[in-house]
Amino acid sequence: DLFTPILLILVVLSGFLVEGARISIAQPSFERWSFGGWAIASLFTGLSDTTRLILHRYLWWVHISLASLFIGLIPYLKLSHFLYAPLSIFTSSLEPKGHLPMIEDIEEQEVFGAPTIKDLTYKDLIDADACVRCGRCQEVCPAYNSGKPLSPKKFIQDLKLEMNTLSRVRKNNNGLEEIVGHTIQADELWACTTCFACQEFCPIFIEHIPKIVELRRSEVLNVSRFPEELNLTFKNLETNYNPWGIGFADRDKWAEGLDIKRFEKPGDAEYLLFVGCMGSYDDRAIKAMRALVSILKKAGIDFAILGTEELCCGDSARRLGNEYLYQILTMENIEKFNERNITKIITACPHGYNTLKNEYSKFGFKGEICHHTQIITEAIKDGNINIGHKNSPTIVYHDSCYLGRYNNIYNEPREIIKRATGSNPFEPKNTRRSSFCCGAGGGRMWMEETIGSRINEVRFDELMGCGTDVIAVSCPFCLTMLNDGKKAKAPDSDIEIMDIAEIVERAIS
Ligand code: SF4
Ligand code: SF4
Repeated sequence: DLFTPILLILVVLSGFLVEGARISIAQPSFERWSFGGWAIASLFTGLSDTTRLILHRYLWWVHISLASLFIGLIPYLKLSHFLYAPLSIFTSSLEPKGHLPMIEDIEEQEVFGAPTIKDLTYKDLIDADACVRCGRCQEVCPAYNSGKPLSPKKFIQDLKLEMNTLSRVRKNNNGLEEIVGHTIQADELWACTTCFACQEFCPIFIEHIPKIVELRRSEVLNVSRFPEELNLTFKNLETNYNPWGIGFADRDKWAEGLDIKRFEKPGDAEYLLFVGCMGSYDDRAIKAMRALVSILKKAGIDFAILGTEELCCGDSARRLGNEYLYQILTMENIEKFNERNITKIITACPHGYNTLKNEYSKFGFKGEICHHTQIITEAIKDGNINIGHKNSPTIVYHDSCYLGRYNNIYNEPREIIKRATGSNPFEPKNTRRSSFCCGAGGGRMWMEETIGSRINEVRFDELMGCGTDVIAVSCPFCLTMLNDGKKAKAPDSDIEIMDIAEIVERAIS
């Protein structure tokens, strides 16, 4: 570590000596302004002109050699970050934050994702070189902070180790090792919730999540090596288009008695309400979905659902690395949207919102996607629903990663809470872009969490610490995860965990 500063000091020192020798020979009066060189020149005044000339020539060569050595070594020194960091920023993705690269012509591919370092992109390799090891990503990582073996900083450094192996392997002409199981272990890879906190806070725009997903793709699609419980999740998504494997014919059971139109042909409604798997099958999320339906009706919004025709949006499958399954689900959903000429979609799930808005377009779907907090805010502002605030509870708001960090929707939920209760929501310590994940993203919802503390419990504790009557969320995954956190950490507490739609419904009635 001392080599770089010592070399830099030698370059600067030799530069001053050359300058001093030059000034001592020519002695132009204006060089007085060159304080360092002028002072050093006085050291040479006792020498003859010839000696000074020879000395100047030698010092010049020493200085040029040291400076050339320094420049030549930059790629191998810590200073290389001065080169790679701007390169990393310059090559960062211009796609929306929530977009993952698609595998084109997936049927024709023989190798998926990145089994070895040479399968990563140039941007990935630049990132590995550019990391300045500042640790900001690690500080905000929910996996790291809950005792999992994953550190996003170490993950990037491990890729750098793989790169060093690459140059050795090229020299020895040996085969490359697979990354997973070599420098990066399975427990690290599968601990990521794809919460985006690491990328949000990395000062040089290093992109951790696409690399993690590339490794997962390789594990799932090349070698079928993934946490055992995902076998069932993938099978359920393939056969019943939802992660639990509940019959697809029951997908619209949640809507019984609500008299909701089905979107069967073009023009049936202005909006499609894309319910999502949680809103269709999860008991707690169904209550929130029914509240949303009641609000949409009161606001006079013309909407319909696909009912049993709707399929999982594919978000979990994609982030778990099963791109093949994701593409099947996506293409089938898009076919249904296009058959019905659907161009406006409302969803209450930030994961569905993100993939429909930022990823379906790559598969040919163009439409306006609204999160329910946006539609409700508009309805309140337009005076289509009136909400009062009698006996309002105190509320702390939890930002969902896929709504906040990924899609910058921070203000609408807060605006709704303010209108519903008459006061701004409480803000927890980790809020807005620093929000702490609930633990469900990246397909973690469908995996066991056996190492360290449970992320949902860590987050619940923080929110509970705000001392409010209600924890408000705008995501069905957060709703379920925080409810589970409450069951584990404060089963007797009166604190309620509510979706924004439920808060509004209560404020209307
Ligand atoms: S925040 Fe970025 S630069 Fe800093 S350690 Fe993490 S990846 Fe490296
Ligand atoms: S996306 Fe979230 S969980 Fe994954 S490495 Fe980054 S900070 Fe950690």
